[in-house]
Amino acid sequence: MRVLVVEDERRLAMSLKRGLEADGFAVDVAFDGNSGLSMAREHRYDAIVLDLMLPGLHGYQICATLRDHQNWTPILILTAMDGKLDETEGLDLGADDYLTKPFSHPVLVARLRALLRRGAAPRPAILAAGDLRLDPASRRVWRGDHVLRLTVREVSVLEYLLRHAGQVLSKRDILDHVWDDDFDGDPNIVEVYVHHLRKKIDIAFGRRAIETIRGAGYRLAADGG
Ligand code: CA
Repeated sequence: MRVLVVEDERRLAMSLKRGLEADGFAVDVAFDGNSGLSMAREHRYDAIVLDLMLPGLHGYQICATLRDHQNWTPILILTAMDGKLDETEGLDLGADDYLTKPFSHPVLVARLRALLRRGAAPRPAILAAGDLRLDPASRRVWRGDHVLRLTVREVSVLEYLLRHAGQVLSKRDILDHVWDDDFDGDPNIVEVYVHHLRKKIDIAFGRRAIETIRGAGYRLAADGG
């Protein structure tokens, strides 16, 4: 089992390396955020032990970037901070477990072994039309390698279009599936959202995935436009 330790306190990093190697792990160490991220992306690790306060990139940024790139290697976050908020944020960004410093070596090894047994968390299938992709679990959207920043509602509209790619959907269909039942506003709200989505997923990339079918509704090209 190959583990990457990203920790800028050198004495702690080296003692983690020695300890984990004594327990039979192969261990690589990165002392700053940028090299941690590039090593994590270059090699297939079985798990990553990740400090949060790092020079270069914050641990959360490393975590979010890996998940943005579909890398689901189990991540155990180490942190000196001990607040509920930090833990929640870490887990939201796709970390799998969390350990507050100081910790004992046997506890670290036990948590790491638990993560390795679980393996990379299974994620629901990514929805895709060509190079336009949406991960329903993390609500992230990509056009090729670009991560798109969409609002919660825009993601929901796009998810519905992707689940029915190639089909003509009326504004009413979209409204019924994306807005809750007690929405009694103007159905033309759908137009507003489609307009915003077009700017972000199509116009910004010179593409035309969302087609307007006059008098009928919209169709997302199955090939992503
Ligand atoms: Ca640190």
